[in-house]
Amino acid sequence: MSPLPDDHRRRLAASLALADPAGPTLPEAACVAARAAMALAQALDQPHEAAQAGAWLCEQLLRVGRHADVLSMAPPVLQALARPPLDQTLASDRFQLMRAFSMAACETAHFDRALDTAHELVRLVSPLGDANASLKAAFTLSACFERMGDSWQASRVLGEALRLHGPAAAPAEQLVAQNALCAFSIGLFHRLNGAAPADEVQAALARAREAGTRAYEGLPVPPPPQQEVAICGNLGEVLMYDGQSEAALALLQRAQATAEARGFSAYIWRLGTTLAVHDLLQGRPELTLQRSQALLAEMGGQAPIQTAIRAHHAAYRACRALGRVDEALQHFETVERMERQRATQQLRAQSELFVTRTEAQHAFWQADQARQDAQTQRARAAEFAAHAERDALTGLGNRRHFDRRCAELLPALQRDQEAVALVLVDIDHFKIINDAHGHAVGDRALVALAALLRDNTRSGDVLVRYGGEEFVLVLPGMPSGLAREFCERLRERVAAHAGFCPEVPELRMTISLGLAAAPPFDAQNLLKAADLALYCAKHDGRNRVRVAAQASAADHATVLAPDHHGR
Ligand code: GH3
Ligand code: MG
Ligand code: MG
Repeated sequence: MSPLPDDHRRRLAASLALADPAGPTLPEAACVAARAAMALAQALDQPHEAAQAGAWLCEQLLRVGRHADVLSMAPPVLQALARPPLDQTLASDRFQLMRAFSMAACETAHFDRALDTAHELVRLVSPLGDANASLKAAFTLSACFERMGDSWQASRVLGEALRLHGPAAAPAEQLVAQNALCAFSIGLFHRLNGAAPADEVQAALARAREAGTRAYEGLPVPPPPQQEVAICGNLGEVLMYDGQSEAALALLQRAQATAEARGFSAYIWRLGTTLAVHDLLQGRPELTLQRSQALLAEMGGQAPIQTAIRAHHAAYRACRALGRVDEALQHFETVERMERQRATQQLRAQSELFVTRTEAQHAFWQADQARQDAQTQRARAAEFAAHAERDALTGLGNRRHFDRRCAELLPALQRDQEAVALVLVDIDHFKIINDAHGHAVGDRALVALAALLRDNTRSGDVLVRYGGEEFVLVLPGMPSGLAREFCERLRERVAAHAGFCPEVPELRMTISLGLAAAPPFDAQNLLKAADLALYCAKHDGRNRVRVAAQASAADHATVLAPDHHGR
């Protein structure tokens, strides 16, 4: 991909900014901008921007109730978004798009696809241990159950998710979940009404009121338009059925005003049906009929199946109250047909994806278990990584640690033109110590020496046990001269140390040190040079420091003349 000319980049960025679902653009205008951004990004061969624009377009389409468009647009975009590299923004766009797709599939009664996507979302989100994402995924899954007519399962799944993830989730996500709980309880109220004992019906309404009030009280000031519409609309509906007509009307009208100002078609339709029912409850069936007929004409075939069912049901009741029997029968038959259609799709989806509700619940638990397993695995992996780089006897780093740290450090030091020294430390005649006092004493001496070395290094230094009685030190930022002085001090301290093994107080040890300094900024070459210097230190009588000739290739390392400090 060649870099974009500036004006193209600016145009693309401007279209994307207008399409952003988190931004202020009205959904209709945002759809236009998202389409433009998508086309531009495709023409300019910018696949990530194209995918992002596609994801945002779907979200805006959902807002204006164009569910069929979401269903056809989303799959290729989802595929593009699943391709790595998947950074944070794209991953979050992908989750949002999966949510939008699942919702659109629900609203058009494609429950199998809706459930499939919602389950995949739960699975994807679970290992992340992100409370907000988990809550959002559970919300999507529960919304599928609700639209399928299973308000019980919907409330259970979401209630459980709220209990698990609510406390750690952001207030905005908790609000969305509370509002959904309210909506599910309203759904339950409708299903029970006339088919269950009155106290059960009232209990569902009370739960809806509780969740709805909680959501309403949590609305930020000023409220985000979508939340304002959804929350005021739901609580308005609850209060309406609760007989609090005036308060209900105020909330419903507030929701409707915002929905209309923003062009949220799906909400406008849904609120329209609720207001039609409100007229009916107020004894104005002719108004109800007017409203619902106008709504049905406006929605055409685009409305969510649930909203269409409600509108026909309101019209049926109005016609019945007005004695218009033929029309009432027509609306009633439409309601029946749509309900059957919904129920058939529900059965199909459930038998394809899982046989029983228990299985559905099980799938949810499995996903949650997967999240917990992943957390344990991560902790274990971190522990293992720490172990894998640690020497078991001394607790210092091992060769692997040396390799990793050098690979991180040396290129950075080279780039910043910083000095670095590498020191190879080897205990003198350690074999004799083992032979004289036993291996266990030898071990204790190694541990004591490791502690002494640790006490004499800085936190940014690398200190590892490189072999049996050999240690390597990497000293970032330390030029050769200073490193040499450091080595001499260390050598003297070891020689003077008396506490290598409490059981053998007379035990003394000396070390020999080989020092090499960069350049080259290459661990293996520095090691080779330091090893040659160490060999010279041993050769010259041990308990001394030798420095490799600087800047020479390791193979030709020469060693400076014996120093005058160590003797
Ligand atoms: P030099 O001064 O030439 O280095 O003599 P040296 O005896 O230290 O060197 P050599 O390489 O001949 O022997 C190293 C000894 O270190 C041999 C081995 O028994 C001992 N050793 C290596 N690892 C351990 C360990 O983990 N514990 C103990 N106690 N001894 C070890
Ligand atoms: Mg050795
Ligand atoms: Mg040795």
